[in-house]
Amino acid sequence: MKKAQMRRQGWIEVVTGVMFSGKSEELIRRIRRALIAGRQVQLFKSHLDDRYSGKFQISSHDGRTIDAEPISDSNELRAKILPTTEVVAIDEAQFLDDGITQVVELLAMAGKRVIVVGTDMDFRGEPFGPMGALLARAEEVTKLTAICVVCGERATRNQRLIDGKPATVDGPTIQVGGAESYEARCRDCHEVLDQPKGKLGLDEANL
Ligand code: ADP
Ligand code: ZN
Repeated sequence: MKKAQMRRQGWIEVVTGVMFSGKSEELIRRIRRALIAGRQVQLFKSHLDDRYSGKFQISSHDGRTIDAEPISDSNELRAKILPTTEVVAIDEAQFLDDGITQVVELLAMAGKRVIVVGTDMDFRGEPFGPMGALLARAEEVTKLTAICVVCGERATRNQRLIDGKPATVDGPTIQVGGAESYEARCRDCHEVLDQPKGKLGLDEANL
């Protein structure tokens, strides 16, 4: 008998895009449906995300609820996986270490469905943490867009603002508890101050 016939086949799906693009809404939808299907689900989120102030619950209409388990790194996630778990969902994956790609691969090879959610670009427009590698390994990728708050076009970039002004390129990629805020913006309206030469560090005049 082929391996796939003996047990369910695992895979990786990534839901990504700019902040405010509806990734959390999509994650909740997918988890609710997995619960309706009677699947055993575990949900994790990076402890760096404090939007849910420690308590993040998803409920299905039949009254089942699951709590998000806060994790600080990929090893902690791996240690918390229960053998009976069929669906593993990971929110805010951009904050995790590079080891998450291997853990996610192992989970998929063990027959689990892995739903990875995270923003794919940092405030500079560069790949955020392990997201690039996760996108490449996924069987399925859903990239969502928001609305640019400046011009109303499709927003694909995270605009970091410090006291209401565009942040400089040299700030930390992950800033916890700072005075910064974020907006969804399109390519043209996205601003990063003090870039050496143009947005890509290239001489854009040659293009
Ligand atoms: P994400 O997890 O991608 O940050 P959420 O699922 O938390 O996104 O939020 C998506 C919701 O944010 C949308 O349904 C909409 O109501 C709201 N929203 C606020 N600002 C914007 C914006 N600029 N573009 C689109 N939706 C926005
Ligand atoms: Zn715009």
